[in-house]
Amino acid sequence: MSTSLFAPLFDPLLDRAHAHASGFLRDLPQRFVGARAGRDEMLAALDAPLPPRGEDPAAVIDLLARHAERGASACASPRYFGFVIGGALPVALAADWLVSTWDQNAGIHVISPIAAAMEEIAARWLLELFDLPRESGVGFVTGCQMAHFTCLAAARHGVLRRAGWDVEADGLFGAPRIHVVASEEAHVTADVALRYLGLGTRSLVHVPADEQGRMRADRLREVLATLQGPTIVCAQAGNVNTGAFDPLREIGEAARAHGAWLHVDGAFGLWARASADRRVLADGIELADSWATDAHKWLNVPYDSGVAIVRHAQDHRDAMTSAAAYLIQTRGAERDAVDWVPEFSRRARGIPVYATLRALGRDGVADLVDRCCARARQFAQLLAAQPGVRILNDVVLNQVLVRFGDDDALTREVIEGVQRDGTCWASGTTWHSLAAMRISVSNWATSEADVVASAAAMVRVLGRVLGSQGDAEST
Ligand SMILES: *Cc1c(COP(=O)(O)O)cnc(C)c1O
Repeated sequence: MSTSLFAPLFDPLLDRAHAHASGFLRDLPQRFVGARAGRDEMLAALDAPLPPRGEDPAAVIDLLARHAERGASACASPRYFGFVIGGALPVALAADWLVSTWDQNAGIHVISPIAAAMEEIAARWLLELFDLPRESGVGFVTGCQMAHFTCLAAARHGVLRRAGWDVEADGLFGAPRIHVVASEEAHVTADVALRYLGLGTRSLVHVPADEQGRMRADRLREVLATLQGPTIVCAQAGNVNTGAFDPLREIGEAARAHGAWLHVDGAFGLWARASADRRVLADGIELADSWATDAHKWLNVPYDSGVAIVRHAQDHRDAMTSAAAYLIQTRGAERDAVDWVPEFSRRARGIPVYATLRALGRDGVADLVDRCCARARQFAQLLAAQPGVRILNDVVLNQVLVRFGDDDALTREVIEGVQRDGTCWASGTTWHSLAAMRISVSNWATSEADVVASAAAMVRVLGRVLGSQGDAEST
Protein backbone atom coordinates (compact mmCIF):
# COMPACT_ATOMS: atom_id res chain seq x y z
CA MET A 1 0.00 0.00 0.00
CA SER A 2 1.20 3.46 -0.80
CA THR A 3 2.03 5.27 2.41
CA SER A 4 -0.06 8.20 1.29
CA LEU A 5 -3.15 5.98 1.46
CA PHE A 6 -2.61 4.74 4.97
CA ALA A 7 -3.81 7.68 7.07
CA PRO A 8 -6.80 8.45 4.81
CA LEU A 9 -8.11 4.96 5.48
CA PHE A 10 -8.09 5.57 9.22
CA ASP A 11 -9.06 9.22 9.48
CA PRO A 12 -12.68 9.09 8.36
CA LEU A 13 -13.40 6.10 10.62
CA LEU A 14 -11.62 7.55 13.62
CA ASP A 15 -13.35 10.90 13.11
CA ARG A 16 -16.64 9.05 13.08
CA ALA A 17 -15.78 7.01 16.14
CA HIS A 18 -14.72 10.20 17.88
CA ALA A 19 -18.01 11.91 17.06
CA HIS A 20 -19.97 8.92 18.35
CA ALA A 21 -17.82 8.78 21.49
CA SER A 22 -18.32 12.49 22.17
CA GLY A 23 -22.05 12.10 21.82
CA PHE A 24 -22.10 9.10 24.14
CA LEU A 25 -20.05 10.92 26.77
CA ARG A 26 -22.15 14.08 26.47
CA ASP A 27 -25.33 12.11 27.21
CA LEU A 28 -23.79 9.82 29.82
CA PRO A 29 -24.45 11.90 32.97
CA GLN A 30 -28.14 12.47 32.14
CA ARG A 31 -29.17 9.33 30.36
CA PHE A 32 -31.26 6.44 31.66
CA VAL A 33 -28.72 4.52 33.74
CA GLY A 34 -29.60 0.88 33.17
CA ALA A 35 -29.54 -0.97 29.88
CA ARG A 36 -32.85 -0.59 28.09
CA ALA A 37 -32.55 -3.43 25.62
CA GLY A 38 -32.09 -7.12 26.28
CA ARG A 39 -30.90 -10.00 24.14
CA ASP A 40 -33.96 -10.12 21.87
CA GLU A 41 -33.80 -6.49 20.90
CA MET A 42 -30.04 -6.58 20.45
CA LEU A 43 -30.17 -9.67 18.26
CA ALA A 44 -33.00 -8.18 16.23
CA ALA A 45 -30.87 -5.12 15.64
CA LEU A 46 -27.50 -6.77 15.12
CA ASP A 47 -27.89 -10.35 14.00
CA ALA A 48 -27.42 -11.32 10.36
CA PRO A 49 -25.86 -14.17 8.43
CA LEU A 50 -22.07 -13.87 8.24
CA PRO A 51 -21.83 -11.37 5.38
CA PRO A 52 -20.50 -13.11 2.27
CA ARG A 53 -19.00 -9.85 1.14
CA GLY A 54 -17.76 -7.17 3.45
CA GLU A 55 -19.77 -4.11 4.36
CA ASP A 56 -18.78 -0.48 4.42
CA PRO A 57 -16.62 0.03 7.55
CA ALA A 58 -18.17 3.44 8.22
CA ALA A 59 -21.63 1.89 8.20
CA VAL A 60 -20.42 -0.81 10.60
CA ILE A 61 -19.09 1.81 13.02
CA ASP A 62 -22.37 3.73 12.80
CA LEU A 63 -24.26 0.50 13.51
CA LEU A 64 -22.30 -0.11 16.71
CA ALA A 65 -22.84 3.42 17.92
CA ARG A 66 -26.55 3.45 17.08
CA HIS A 67 -27.25 0.55 19.41
CA ALA A 68 -25.12 1.62 22.38
CA GLU A 69 -27.85 3.94 23.61
CA ARG A 70 -30.18 1.08 24.46
CA GLY A 71 -27.88 -1.92 24.54
CA ALA A 72 -25.12 -0.50 26.75
CA SER A 73 -25.81 0.32 30.37
CA ALA A 74 -24.45 3.63 31.60
CA CYS A 75 -22.16 1.84 34.02
CA ALA A 76 -19.60 4.63 33.61
CA SER A 77 -22.26 7.16 34.67
CA PRO A 78 -21.82 9.11 37.91
CA ARG A 79 -25.16 7.67 39.05
CA TYR A 80 -24.29 4.00 38.57
CA PHE A 81 -23.89 2.36 41.98
CA GLY A 82 -24.17 -1.33 41.07
CA PHE A 83 -21.55 -3.97 41.96
CA VAL A 84 -18.24 -2.10 42.34
CA ILE A 85 -17.80 -0.27 39.06
CA GLY A 86 -15.62 2.70 38.27
CA GLY A 87 -16.00 5.10 35.37
CA ALA A 88 -13.23 6.25 33.07
CA LEU A 89 -11.39 9.46 33.87
CA PRO A 90 -10.86 11.57 30.74
CA VAL A 91 -7.09 11.13 30.86
CA ALA A 92 -7.46 7.38 31.33
CA LEU A 93 -9.80 7.04 28.36
CA ALA A 94 -7.54 9.17 26.15
CA ALA A 95 -4.51 7.09 27.11
CA ASP A 96 -6.49 3.93 26.41
CA TRP A 97 -7.29 5.19 22.91
CA LEU A 98 -3.58 5.61 22.27
CA VAL A 99 -2.93 2.09 23.55
CA SER A 100 -5.37 0.75 20.94
CA THR A 101 -3.91 3.01 18.28
CA TRP A 102 -0.34 1.92 18.93
CA ASP A 103 -1.48 -1.73 19.01
CA GLN A 104 1.59 -2.84 20.89
CA ASN A 105 2.06 -6.41 21.97
CA ALA A 106 3.28 -5.51 25.42
CA GLY A 107 4.37 -9.04 26.33
CA ILE A 108 8.07 -8.42 25.82
CA HIS A 109 10.25 -5.35 26.00
CA VAL A 110 11.69 -5.64 22.51
CA ILE A 111 8.28 -5.06 20.92
CA SER A 112 7.34 -2.11 23.10
CA PRO A 113 9.98 -0.30 25.14
CA ILE A 114 7.42 2.44 25.92
CA ALA A 115 4.91 -0.02 27.39
CA ALA A 116 7.62 -1.81 29.37
CA ALA A 117 8.99 1.46 30.77
CA MET A 118 5.56 2.87 31.65
CA GLU A 119 4.58 -0.36 33.40
CA GLU A 120 7.90 -0.40 35.26
CA ILE A 121 7.29 3.15 36.47
CA ALA A 122 3.58 2.65 37.19
CA ALA A 123 4.49 -0.44 39.24
CA ARG A 124 6.88 1.63 41.35
CA TRP A 125 4.32 4.41 41.79
CA LEU A 126 1.66 1.94 42.93
CA LEU A 127 3.98 0.42 45.54
CA GLU A 128 4.67 3.95 46.81
CA LEU A 129 1.01 4.93 46.79
CA PHE A 130 -0.04 1.76 48.65
CA ASP A 131 3.12 1.88 50.77
CA LEU A 132 3.90 -1.78 50.12
CA PRO A 133 7.38 -3.36 50.04
CA ARG A 134 9.28 -1.64 47.24
CA GLU A 135 10.98 -4.87 46.16
CA SER A 136 7.63 -6.49 45.29
CA GLY A 137 6.89 -7.88 41.85
CA VAL A 138 3.97 -6.22 40.03
CA GLY A 139 1.92 -7.56 37.12
CA PHE A 140 -0.74 -5.70 35.12
CA VAL A 141 -3.56 -8.17 34.49
CA THR A 142 -7.17 -8.01 33.34
CA GLY A 143 -8.77 -7.67 36.76
CA CYS A 144 -8.73 -8.79 40.34
CA GLN A 145 -9.74 -12.30 39.31
CA MET A 146 -6.50 -12.75 37.40
CA ALA A 147 -4.61 -10.82 40.06
CA HIS A 148 -5.76 -13.49 42.54
CA PHE A 149 -4.67 -16.18 40.10
CA THR A 150 -1.25 -14.59 39.70
CA CYS A 151 -0.69 -13.94 43.41
CA LEU A 152 -1.94 -17.37 44.47
CA ALA A 153 0.21 -19.05 41.80
CA ALA A 154 3.17 -17.25 43.38
CA ALA A 155 1.92 -18.36 46.81
CA ARG A 156 1.60 -21.98 45.66
CA HIS A 157 5.13 -21.79 44.27
CA GLY A 158 6.51 -20.10 47.39
CA VAL A 159 5.00 -22.35 50.05
CA LEU A 160 5.94 -25.51 48.14
CA ARG A 161 9.47 -24.28 47.39
CA ARG A 162 9.97 -23.81 51.12
CA ALA A 163 8.75 -27.40 51.57
CA GLY A 164 11.35 -28.58 49.04
CA TRP A 165 8.93 -29.06 46.13
CA ASP A 166 9.14 -27.44 42.67
CA VAL A 167 5.51 -27.14 41.60
CA GLU A 168 6.35 -25.58 38.25
CA ALA A 169 8.38 -28.66 37.27
CA ASP A 170 6.64 -31.44 39.18
CA GLY A 171 3.06 -30.23 39.40
CA LEU A 172 0.77 -31.09 42.28
CA PHE A 173 0.76 -34.89 41.98
CA GLY A 174 2.57 -36.15 45.04
CA ALA A 175 3.23 -32.64 46.32
CA PRO A 176 2.97 -31.80 50.02
CA ARG A 177 -0.60 -30.88 50.90
CA ILE A 178 -1.27 -27.11 50.87
CA HIS A 179 -3.79 -25.84 53.42
CA VAL A 180 -5.82 -22.87 52.25
CA VAL A 181 -7.63 -20.81 54.86
CA ALA A 182 -10.04 -18.02 53.95
CA SER A 183 -12.74 -15.95 55.53
CA GLU A 184 -16.28 -17.19 55.05
CA GLU A 185 -16.75 -13.76 53.47
CA ALA A 186 -14.02 -14.22 50.83
CA HIS A 187 -14.99 -13.01 47.35
CA VAL A 188 -15.97 -15.76 44.89
CA THR A 189 -13.01 -14.90 42.65
CA ALA A 190 -10.57 -16.15 45.29
CA ASP A 191 -12.32 -19.56 45.11
CA VAL A 192 -12.16 -19.49 41.34
CA ALA A 193 -8.42 -18.80 41.40
CA LEU A 194 -7.90 -21.74 43.77
CA ARG A 195 -9.83 -23.92 41.33
CA TYR A 196 -7.66 -22.82 38.42
CA LEU A 197 -4.57 -23.60 40.46
CA GLY A 198 -5.55 -27.18 41.19
CA LEU A 199 -6.09 -26.47 44.88
CA GLY A 200 -9.84 -26.95 44.69
CA THR A 201 -12.45 -25.33 46.86
CA ARG A 202 -13.71 -28.24 48.95
CA SER A 203 -10.54 -28.36 51.01
CA LEU A 204 -10.73 -24.65 51.81
CA VAL A 205 -10.95 -24.01 55.55
CA HIS A 206 -13.39 -21.19 56.25
CA VAL A 207 -12.92 -18.80 59.15
CA PRO A 208 -16.05 -17.13 60.57
CA ALA A 209 -16.56 -13.41 60.13
CA ASP A 210 -18.11 -10.82 62.45
CA GLU A 211 -21.29 -8.82 61.88
CA GLN A 212 -19.54 -6.41 59.47
CA GLY A 213 -18.04 -9.28 57.49
CA ARG A 214 -14.53 -9.04 58.98
CA MET A 215 -12.61 -12.27 59.42
CA ARG A 216 -12.26 -13.07 63.11
CA ALA A 217 -8.57 -13.12 63.93
CA ASP A 218 -9.14 -15.20 67.08
CA ARG A 219 -10.84 -17.90 65.02
CA LEU A 220 -8.04 -17.75 62.44
CA ARG A 221 -5.48 -18.37 65.18
CA GLU A 222 -7.50 -21.38 66.34
CA VAL A 223 -7.63 -22.77 62.81
CA LEU A 224 -3.93 -22.22 62.18
CA ALA A 225 -3.07 -24.01 65.41
CA THR A 226 -4.59 -27.19 63.93
CA LEU A 227 -2.65 -27.04 60.64
CA GLN A 228 0.85 -28.10 59.78
CA GLY A 229 2.84 -27.67 56.59
CA PRO A 230 2.43 -25.30 53.64
CA THR A 231 -0.41 -22.88 54.34
CA ILE A 232 -1.98 -19.98 52.47
CA VAL A 233 -4.32 -17.52 54.21
CA CYS A 234 -6.66 -15.33 52.14
CA ALA A 235 -7.82 -12.11 53.81
CA GLN A 236 -9.77 -9.17 52.56
CA ALA A 237 -9.41 -5.39 52.50
CA GLY A 238 -12.85 -4.16 51.53
CA ASN A 239 -15.80 -6.56 51.82
CA VAL A 240 -17.81 -6.42 48.62
CA ASN A 241 -21.01 -5.76 50.57
CA THR A 242 -20.00 -3.66 53.55
CA GLY A 243 -16.57 -2.29 52.59
CA ALA A 244 -15.27 -3.62 55.93
CA PHE A 245 -11.61 -4.56 56.35
CA ASP A 246 -10.39 -7.72 58.03
CA PRO A 247 -8.19 -6.96 61.07
CA LEU A 248 -5.11 -7.16 58.89
CA ARG A 249 -2.43 -6.51 61.49
CA GLU A 250 -3.66 -9.31 63.75
CA ILE A 251 -4.13 -11.60 60.76
CA GLY A 252 -0.69 -10.70 59.40
CA GLU A 253 0.95 -11.43 62.74
CA ALA A 254 -0.89 -14.75 63.06
CA ALA A 255 0.07 -15.78 59.53
CA ARG A 256 3.71 -14.88 60.13
CA ALA A 257 3.83 -16.73 63.43
CA HIS A 258 2.56 -19.79 61.57
CA GLY A 259 4.87 -19.36 58.57
CA ALA A 260 1.82 -19.06 56.30
CA TRP A 261 1.62 -17.03 53.10
CA LEU A 262 -0.91 -14.21 53.51
CA HIS A 263 -2.77 -13.05 50.41
CA VAL A 264 -5.06 -10.00 50.55
CA ASP A 265 -8.00 -9.25 48.26
CA GLY A 266 -7.86 -5.47 48.00
CA ALA A 267 -9.90 -5.16 44.79
CA PHE A 268 -11.08 -1.72 45.82
CA GLY A 269 -10.02 -1.55 49.48
CA LEU A 270 -6.29 -1.31 48.76
CA TRP A 271 -6.94 2.21 47.45
CA ALA A 272 -7.80 3.27 51.01
CA ARG A 273 -4.02 3.29 51.49
CA ALA A 274 -3.88 6.41 49.29
CA SER A 275 -6.07 8.40 51.69
CA ALA A 276 -4.75 9.88 54.92
CA ASP A 277 -8.22 9.52 56.44
CA ARG A 278 -8.94 5.95 55.35
CA ARG A 279 -5.56 4.25 55.46
CA VAL A 280 -5.96 3.27 59.10
CA LEU A 281 -8.55 0.74 57.90
CA ALA A 282 -5.79 -1.17 56.13
CA ASP A 283 -3.32 -0.99 59.00
CA GLY A 284 -1.03 -4.03 58.89
CA ILE A 285 -1.75 -4.85 55.25
CA GLU A 286 1.96 -4.44 54.59
CA LEU A 287 2.54 -7.66 56.55
CA ALA A 288 1.02 -9.70 53.73
CA ASP A 289 2.90 -11.60 51.03
CA SER A 290 0.68 -10.72 48.10
CA TRP A 291 -2.06 -8.26 47.23
CA ALA A 292 -4.62 -8.26 44.42
CA THR A 293 -6.36 -5.09 43.31
CA ASP A 294 -8.18 -3.42 40.44
CA ALA A 295 -7.45 -0.23 38.55
CA HIS A 296 -10.74 -0.38 36.64
CA LYS A 297 -12.68 0.12 39.85
CA TRP A 298 -11.41 2.91 42.03
CA LEU A 299 -8.66 4.36 39.85
CA ASN A 300 -11.30 4.81 37.14
CA VAL A 301 -9.33 3.57 34.16
CA PRO A 302 -11.35 1.81 31.44
CA TYR A 303 -11.87 -1.95 31.54
CA ASP A 304 -9.98 -4.10 31.88
CA SER A 305 -7.23 -3.44 34.37
CA GLY A 306 -6.13 -5.28 37.50
CA VAL A 307 -2.87 -5.42 39.43
CA ALA A 308 -1.08 -8.36 41.09
CA ILE A 309 1.56 -7.49 43.68
CA VAL A 310 3.86 -10.07 45.28
CA ARG A 311 6.36 -9.29 48.01
CA HIS A 312 8.68 -12.12 46.94
CA ALA A 313 9.44 -11.06 43.38
CA GLN A 314 11.34 -14.27 42.70
CA ASP A 315 8.35 -16.47 43.61
CA HIS A 316 6.18 -14.24 41.44
CA ARG A 317 8.53 -14.51 38.50
CA ASP A 318 9.13 -18.23 38.89
CA ALA A 319 5.38 -18.86 38.87
CA MET A 320 4.71 -16.74 35.77
CA THR A 321 7.75 -16.57 33.54
CA SER A 322 7.76 -18.01 30.03
CA ALA A 323 10.82 -18.66 27.93
CA ALA A 324 11.07 -19.90 24.36
CA ALA A 325 13.89 -20.07 21.87
CA TYR A 326 12.40 -17.54 19.48
CA LEU A 327 11.60 -14.92 22.10
CA ILE A 328 14.02 -12.07 22.56
CA GLN A 329 13.96 -11.66 26.29
CA THR A 330 16.10 -9.23 28.13
CA ARG A 331 18.91 -10.03 30.48
CA GLY A 332 19.27 -6.49 31.75
CA ALA A 333 16.97 -4.29 33.78
CA GLU A 334 14.40 -4.11 31.01
CA ARG A 335 11.02 -5.51 32.00
CA ASP A 336 9.34 -8.31 30.06
CA ALA A 337 5.70 -8.44 31.11
CA VAL A 338 5.52 -12.19 30.36
CA ASP A 339 7.55 -12.71 33.55
CA TRP A 340 4.83 -11.19 35.74
CA VAL A 341 1.44 -12.12 34.27
CA PRO A 342 -0.33 -15.24 32.97
CA GLU A 343 -0.78 -13.76 29.50
CA PHE A 344 1.71 -14.05 26.68
CA SER A 345 0.57 -11.56 24.05
CA ARG A 346 -1.16 -8.77 25.85
CA ARG A 347 -2.55 -5.25 25.75
CA ALA A 348 -0.39 -2.51 27.26
CA ARG A 349 -2.91 -2.06 30.04
CA GLY A 350 -0.39 -0.45 32.36
CA ILE A 351 -0.24 2.64 30.16
CA PRO A 352 -3.60 4.12 31.23
CA VAL A 353 -2.59 3.39 34.83
CA TYR A 354 0.64 5.33 34.29
CA ALA A 355 -1.17 8.24 32.62
CA THR A 356 -3.85 8.40 35.32
CA LEU A 357 -1.40 8.30 38.23
CA ARG A 358 0.67 10.98 36.52
CA ALA A 359 -2.34 13.21 35.90
CA LEU A 360 -3.87 12.77 39.37
CA GLY A 361 -0.74 12.63 41.49
CA ARG A 362 -0.78 11.34 45.03
CA ASP A 363 -3.19 14.09 46.15
CA GLY A 364 -5.51 13.45 43.27
CA VAL A 365 -5.86 9.75 44.08
CA ALA A 366 -6.42 10.57 47.77
CA ASP A 367 -9.06 13.09 46.78
CA LEU A 368 -10.80 10.58 44.50
CA VAL A 369 -10.99 8.03 47.32
CA ASP A 370 -12.10 10.59 49.91
CA ARG A 371 -14.76 12.02 47.62
CA CYS A 372 -16.33 8.62 46.99
CA CYS A 373 -16.31 7.83 50.72
CA ALA A 374 -17.94 11.18 51.50
CA ARG A 375 -20.65 10.51 48.90
CA ALA A 376 -21.30 7.09 50.45
CA ARG A 377 -21.76 8.73 53.87
CA GLN A 378 -24.05 11.32 52.28
CA PHE A 379 -26.17 8.50 50.83
CA ALA A 380 -26.35 6.80 54.22
CA GLN A 381 -27.39 10.03 55.97
CA LEU A 382 -30.04 10.97 53.42
CA LEU A 383 -31.56 7.49 53.37
CA ALA A 384 -31.36 6.82 57.11
CA ALA A 385 -33.37 10.00 57.70
CA GLN A 386 -36.33 8.43 55.86
CA PRO A 387 -38.92 6.46 57.84
CA GLY A 388 -38.70 2.74 57.14
CA VAL A 389 -35.20 2.90 55.70
CA ARG A 390 -32.32 1.28 57.53
CA ILE A 391 -28.58 1.23 56.79
CA LEU A 392 -27.26 -2.24 57.61
CA ASN A 393 -23.51 -1.61 57.64
CA ASP A 394 -21.04 0.77 59.23
CA VAL A 395 -20.22 3.00 56.28
CA VAL A 396 -16.44 3.00 56.62
CA LEU A 397 -15.60 3.21 52.93
CA ASN A 398 -17.60 3.53 49.70
CA GLN A 399 -20.21 0.79 50.26
CA VAL A 400 -23.71 1.24 51.71
CA LEU A 401 -26.26 -1.51 52.43
CA VAL A 402 -29.86 -0.31 52.53
CA ARG A 403 -32.98 -2.14 53.68
CA PHE A 404 -36.50 -0.91 53.15
CA GLY A 405 -39.35 -1.51 55.59
CA ASP A 406 -37.34 -4.30 57.20
CA ASP A 407 -38.93 -6.50 54.55
CA ASP A 408 -37.25 -8.71 51.95
CA ALA A 409 -39.98 -8.47 49.34
CA LEU A 410 -40.33 -4.71 49.70
CA THR A 411 -36.56 -4.25 49.49
CA ARG A 412 -36.38 -6.30 46.30
CA GLU A 413 -39.31 -4.38 44.81
CA VAL A 414 -37.61 -1.09 45.55
CA ILE A 415 -34.39 -2.30 43.92
CA GLU A 416 -36.28 -3.33 40.79
CA GLY A 417 -38.22 -0.09 40.81
CA VAL A 418 -35.02 1.94 41.10
CA GLN A 419 -33.51 0.07 38.17
CA ARG A 420 -36.64 0.71 36.07
CA ASP A 421 -36.78 4.37 37.10
CA GLY A 422 -33.42 5.00 35.44
CA THR A 423 -32.26 7.95 37.56
CA CYS A 424 -29.58 5.73 39.04
CA TRP A 425 -28.78 2.03 39.22
CA ALA A 426 -28.13 -0.13 42.25
CA SER A 427 -28.22 -3.87 42.73
CA GLY A 428 -29.23 -6.19 45.51
CA THR A 429 -27.63 -8.65 47.84
CA THR A 430 -28.41 -10.78 50.84
CA TRP A 431 -26.66 -9.70 54.00
CA HIS A 432 -26.96 -11.94 57.07
CA SER A 433 -30.09 -13.48 55.54
CA LEU A 434 -31.67 -10.07 54.90
CA ALA A 435 -32.36 -8.69 51.43
CA ALA A 436 -30.56 -5.38 50.93
CA MET A 437 -29.74 -2.85 48.26
CA ARG A 438 -26.03 -2.29 47.67
CA ILE A 439 -24.75 1.16 46.85
CA SER A 440 -21.14 1.37 45.75
CA VAL A 441 -19.74 4.83 45.06
CA SER A 442 -16.69 4.27 42.89
CA ASN A 443 -17.00 6.82 40.09
CA TRP A 444 -14.74 9.89 39.87
CA ALA A 445 -17.63 12.07 38.67
CA THR A 446 -20.29 11.33 41.29
CA SER A 447 -21.29 14.68 42.78
CA GLU A 448 -23.28 15.64 45.85
CA ALA A 449 -26.12 16.56 43.51
CA ASP A 450 -25.98 13.07 41.96
CA VAL A 451 -26.38 11.56 45.43
CA VAL A 452 -29.28 13.89 46.27
CA ALA A 453 -31.05 13.04 43.01
CA SER A 454 -30.40 9.32 43.40
CA ALA A 455 -31.50 9.13 47.04
CA ALA A 456 -34.63 11.10 46.09
CA ALA A 457 -35.34 8.59 43.32
CA MET A 458 -34.99 5.71 45.77
CA VAL A 459 -37.37 7.36 48.22
CA ARG A 460 -39.81 8.16 45.43
CA VAL A 461 -39.80 4.52 44.32
CA LEU A 462 -40.28 3.37 47.92
CA GLY A 463 -43.30 5.68 48.22
CA ARG A 464 -44.73 4.37 44.97
CA VAL A 465 -44.29 0.73 46.01
CA LEU A 466 -45.86 1.40 49.43
CA GLY A 467 -48.67 3.36 47.77
CA SER A 468 -49.51 0.53 45.41
CA GLN A 469 -49.41 -1.93 48.33
CA GLY A 470 -51.84 0.31 50.22
CA ASP A 471 -54.10 0.35 47.15
CA ALA A 472 -53.94 -3.40 46.92
CA GLU A 473 -54.85 -3.80 50.57
CA SER A 474 -57.78 -1.40 50.40
CA THR A 475 -59.36 -3.10 47.41
C1 LIG B 1 -14.59 -6.84 42.01
C2 LIG B 1 -13.99 -7.68 43.04
C3 LIG B 1 -13.23 -8.80 42.69
C4 LIG B 1 -13.10 -9.28 41.27
O1 LIG B 1 -12.46 -8.32 40.48
P1 LIG B 1 -12.54 -8.33 38.89
O2 LIG B 1 -11.80 -7.11 38.51
O3 LIG B 1 -13.99 -8.27 38.53
O4 LIG B 1 -11.89 -9.57 38.39
C5 LIG B 1 -12.63 -9.50 43.72
N1 LIG B 1 -12.76 -9.13 45.00
C6 LIG B 1 -13.49 -8.06 45.37
C7 LIG B 1 -13.59 -7.70 46.82
C8 LIG B 1 -14.13 -7.30 44.40
O5 LIG B 1 -14.85 -6.23 44.76
